[in-house]
Amino acid sequence: MTAIPETMQAVVYRGANDLRVETLTVPKIGPRELLVKVAVCGVCPTDIKKIHYGTVPPPRIFGHETAGTIVQAGRNVKQFRVGDRVALHHHIPCLKCHACRHGAFAQCAQYKRTGITAGFEPAGGGYAEYVRVMPFVFPGVVKIPKRNSFLEGAMLEPVNTVLKAVKRLKLLRGDVVLVAGQGPIGLMFTRLLKLEGANVIVSDLLNSRLKLAREFGAKWLCNPAAKQESADKVETLPNLVQRLTRGRGLDAAVIAVPSDDVVREAQTLLRGGGQILLFSHTRRGEQTELDLATICVDEKDLIGSYSADVLLQPEVAKLVFSRRLDVRRLITHQFPLEQTAAAIELASHPTAESLKIVVNQVSV
Ligand SMILES: [Zn+2]
Ligand SMILES: [Zn+2]
Repeated sequence: MTAIPETMQAVVYRGANDLRVETLTVPKIGPRELLVKVAVCGVCPTDIKKIHYGTVPPPRIFGHETAGTIVQAGRNVKQFRVGDRVALHHHIPCLKCHACRHGAFAQCAQYKRTGITAGFEPAGGGYAEYVRVMPFVFPGVVKIPKRNSFLEGAMLEPVNTVLKAVKRLKLLRGDVVLVAGQGPIGLMFTRLLKLEGANVIVSDLLNSRLKLAREFGAKWLCNPAAKQESADKVETLPNLVQRLTRGRGLDAAVIAVPSDDVVREAQTLLRGGGQILLFSHTRRGEQTELDLATICVDEKDLIGSYSADVLLQPEVAKLVFSRRLDVRRLITHQFPLEQTAAAIELASHPTAESLKIVVNQVSV
């Protein structure tokens, strides 16, 4: 085991759209804490939003989809040891408060505290060489099996958020579900819904993504952009749904794109008593029009899901590490730590080829 240096490189958020590579002291840990050398950290849209809009006060070090190696363990830490390769989880509910007793973990006060930091106000710290891990987030720390990579470990957190959302849907085997948007999150939905026995229709504007969706288990593909070019050849989404469900309508729709039009269209395609699940509408303060009688009279539920559920972590680890959900296919770009700003730039302006983007510390 190499000695721990005094200083490290970290990418510090200094204000809206202002990320700087700085030299900081390596965090000091307490007797009940861990020091982890970061190997990989995924770029997550929630961090991108905070960085672009400057919604939280600087300075902070973001990055919460982190995997790495334990290089130091406090003397009171029993369940982990130096050398363990681990995936980290930064938010843990208390399981005791009013919100937790209702299963609304993302609304718990403790949950909103971040238990991993590379310095400053804790914000994940994955865009640094080392992070300090506090004991209250240990329940979410997972050891990465030998045959699996740090890249796979870093994907546990986003997969967890998707599995949590899938569990909110009341589905029967054979149900027809639309997943709108086939970015990395949409593709995870496609795969997990397929594993639940659903027949999945996917839509996306990029054919490259639709192709991968097919491999992830989508039964039918729809590119809404294609219909303008050749109106008579391409079946529209309403026709497709009509035909596949014999006029009954979708059992559920997952909206993995931040588009209100897509929500409204899905609402019309849903059967009475079906569910619409919003996953990407994270921007506050936007109003939209929706016929509320579709919710009241037609009993079409409009639900959301945000963040992860640590109780699902063992199931998530199994899905990812067994490769029933092969997350390696989703990672298209790896950037070195110094180029975190470029990684975030690409993640916020995806190309036809780009899916999940990670920051990778090649020295590990
Ligand atoms: Zn995330
Ligand atoms: Zn709680």
